[in-house]
Amino acid sequence: NKITIAIDGFSSTGKSTIARELAKELGYIYVDTGAMYRAVTLYVMRHLFVTESNFDEEAILRHLPFINLRFVFDEKLGYGEIYLNKENVEKEIRLMEVSNNVSKVATVSKVREMLVKQQQEMGKDKGVVMDGRDIGTVVFPDADLKLFMTASTQTRAERRFKELRERGEKVEFDEVLKNVKDRDYMDSTREDSPLIKAEDAIEIDNSNMSLQEQFDKILKLARQ
Ligand code: C5P
Repeated sequence: NKITIAIDGFSSTGKSTIARELAKELGYIYVDTGAMYRAVTLYVMRHLFVTESNFDEEAILRHLPFINLRFVFDEKLGYGEIYLNKENVEKEIRLMEVSNNVSKVATVSKVREMLVKQQQEMGKDKGVVMDGRDIGTVVFPDADLKLFMTASTQTRAERRFKELRERGEKVEFDEVLKNVKDRDYMDSTREDSPLIKAEDAIEIDNSNMSLQEQFDKILKLARQ
């Protein structure tokens, strides 16, 4: 029997890596909802020059109907990559510039409404692993398995820093640490769907866990 698995948590807790591996193992669809918020952010940054200090919510709302998001499954990778109006933006949405603006865009209720609807549609047939901030609370409150991933702020900033450097981005550690903290703050204090642990979610602190340990633990939970 296929189930719905919701994985929420703070940024850089390794949610996507685990979710992706889990989906591959179970033969499920993987949906990276953070990628959707990032793609909307990229679109508004390109078209409206949106930044935190220049934030025009009305203009964003006018542009929403022109934003088409899709995940296209890649056989080699074993998961879907995100397309924004026919363009693969998987790489560009991970740039620091996008990370610096995404949590602000994610506070806009109409943006959330649009993306939540699409996510519910993608997961309507079960057999899905979805990761984000509000999956167990808003998108699929009836999910069969809910996980809430945490790790210390320092650990998460170190992971993100390493990842960005490996991709060749010239970032400083302090900038990454600040971004992780800022997003934690914005994600957990926004009015609409703040990041909170669903009551029935299982919390996993992976500060001192290897990927394999996490994977084994979660796979066991999924098969119970
Ligand atoms: O998961 P990722 O770090 O890529 O998400 C980027 C940002 O998108 C988060 O910091 C958060 O502001 C927003 N987001 C959200 N709800 C989700 C997924 C992501 O608000 N379900």
